[in-house]
Amino acid sequence: MLEVADLRKTYSTGDVALNGVDLTVEGSETVAMIGPSGAGKSTFIRCVNRLTEPTSGEIYLDGTELTGLKNDALRSARRDIGMIFQEYNLVERLTVMENVLTGRLGHLSAWKAFRRDFPAEDVDRAFEILDRVGLGGMENKRADELSGGQRQRVGIARAVIQNPKILLVDEPTSSLDPETSDVVMELLTDIADERGVPVLINIHEVDLARSHADRIVGLHDGELVFEGTPGELDDRS
Ligand code: ADP
Ligand code: ADP
Repeated sequence: MLEVADLRKTYSTGDVALNGVDLTVEGSETVAMIGPSGAGKSTFIRCVNRLTEPTSGEIYLDGTELTGLKNDALRSARRDIGMIFQEYNLVERLTVMENVLTGRLGHLSAWKAFRRDFPAEDVDRAFEILDRVGLGGMENKRADELSGGQRQRVGIARAVIQNPKILLVDEPTSSLDPETSDVVMELLTDIADERGVPVLINIHEVDLARSHADRIVGLHDGELVFEGTPGELDDRS
């Protein structure tokens, strides 16, 4: 369960990106965070996975406070967070299997890791997960040979193989056509259900949020301005 209390972020430029946001994401629910560009959505995700330091506030993941963590404790907490990015962040010259197994390492460490043998049980798990995301038989394709939808499936597999306690997804569909977007959103919600982990998705396409999320939160100028079911969102508009 992710519990965020009174999260604030003011960048050194003076931009106030988050102005006191409270949010809990739990069980295996899919929460979509919607809002116009500049609302603070990606800052929120970057604060939770600690790519950026919040100015103040509390972030608990299954009871562990994330904001004060450093070094090893931070690295270990980050492993509990499955990140899925808009631009996939795949290592282009590595295969699907290598991308899944080297996780979120940078290019250099990915290459180093790839020269080592991966434990057989990790490889078995990777095959299983690749099957699950619809990439069975594609493990030896290079990332740069894949379509956008396939690339996003690799991103999902790479996040899921770590057994995260939450999936954080930043604009997963902005490079995809509408049909593929629907398939990717459905895969994300199904995987959350199957694995019993919550998923928080930043998304600017309100229709996708409406048709796939259990709950929608609306962010505007760094503040939560709506929280409710897709039906409740429809009632407002
Ligand atoms: P922090 O306050 O988290 O240290 P900084 O203000 O130092 O962040 O900015 C981090 C990086 O983001 C810098 O490279 C900066 O140029 C860049 N940046 C600055 N303004 C913006 C903006 N409005 N949107 C996105 N990136 C920005
Ligand atoms: P969204 O993801 O909803 O588009 P962001 O979190 O990217 O919103 O941005 C929220 C606000 O913070 C905007 O005003 C943006 O310009 C500012 N901002 C984002 N990143 C940075 C940064 N690194 N440095 C300075 N300002 C930033």
